[in-house]
Amino acid sequence: MTARVIDGNARAAALRAKLTDEVARLKREHGLVPGLAVVLVGDDPASSIYVRNKVKRTAEAGVASADYKLPATASEAELLSLIAKLNADPAVHGILVQLPLPKHLDAGKAILAIDPAKDVDGLHPVTVGALASGMPKLVPCTPLACIILAKDVHGSLAGLEAVVIGRSNIVGKPLAQLLLAEDATVTIAHSKTRDLAAVCRRADLLIAAVGRPELVRGDWVKPGATVLDVGINRIETGEKKRLVGDVAYAEAAQVAGAITPVPGGVGPMTIACVLVNTVRAACLQAGVPAPGIS
Ligand code: NAP
Repeated sequence: MTARVIDGNARAAALRAKLTDEVARLKREHGLVPGLAVVLVGDDPASSIYVRNKVKRTAEAGVASADYKLPATASEAELLSLIAKLNADPAVHGILVQLPLPKHLDAGKAILAIDPAKDVDGLHPVTVGALASGMPKLVPCTPLACIILAKDVHGSLAGLEAVVIGRSNIVGKPLAQLLLAEDATVTIAHSKTRDLAAVCRRADLLIAAVGRPELVRGDWVKPGATVLDVGINRIETGEKKRLVGDVAYAEAAQVAGAITPVPGGVGPMTIACVLVNTVRAACLQAGVPAPGIS
């Protein structure tokens, strides 16, 4: 079998087009312009690229997007004071603090400082608790992206065996909650999981969010399964640097039914989901019905 390649770029473009229409409608009918503030501390090159993309893509859809840059030497007080200013600004509906922060800053404190109503990364404990209690308001962008892609393939996820490799707060754990809410049977695997290959082979839906280049081999994949590869790993082969996922793509594509490439799979959909969350946050704050997510 050769897997169907899930085109994350095309899917993200379709989602952005839909959201662009929604943003125009919100402005026309309610005078509401969703606003996004992205906070970047320091000048880590990968983080700068992510922030630039988030601001560019959301601005293209009509969102009032702005980045707020602080120097790598910024103090905790400076960061918290910027977040407080953005919390109080009624034109800002979503706040993203780009992680990782420089080592001297406590990411937990920054996340706790964000008004949960503006928590478009879905990391504040209030947002996490709402998701776990089945009352989601905003959900993290990458897990949301994975759910949309999985539902594109399967329609309903009810009853599917879903295996998520990775238990981070930003991807693995919220993704497992979303999959449960979709009535999948969910296993969360991690670095202490015994016989990871055998656990993966059970999966109708296998999602890797690990950060280990090509960890998941072709013979870990159940024939016909859907494989979503969240990993983004920069590797060097000779002189060349390239991006690979957590899945050995060429091998897995021989076995899977559908698979996301890296790049061009989950990544662009994650950025489109920043837009979804910003529009949703604006609607919730304005008391206006939020558009559907897909
Ligand atoms: P993270 O916080 O480092 O978590 C990695 C998880 O993988 C941990 O739960 C860890 O287990 C588990 N793990 C590590 N080695 C393992 C192994 N050999 N076998 C099984 N599990 C193992 O990473 P993250 O923030 O979730 O990100 C994961 C990957 O996704 C990274 O490559 C990141 O760049 C990428 N990412 C992509 C997007 C996107 O938009 N596409 C968004 C976010 C992240 P323990 O908990 O036991 O340590």
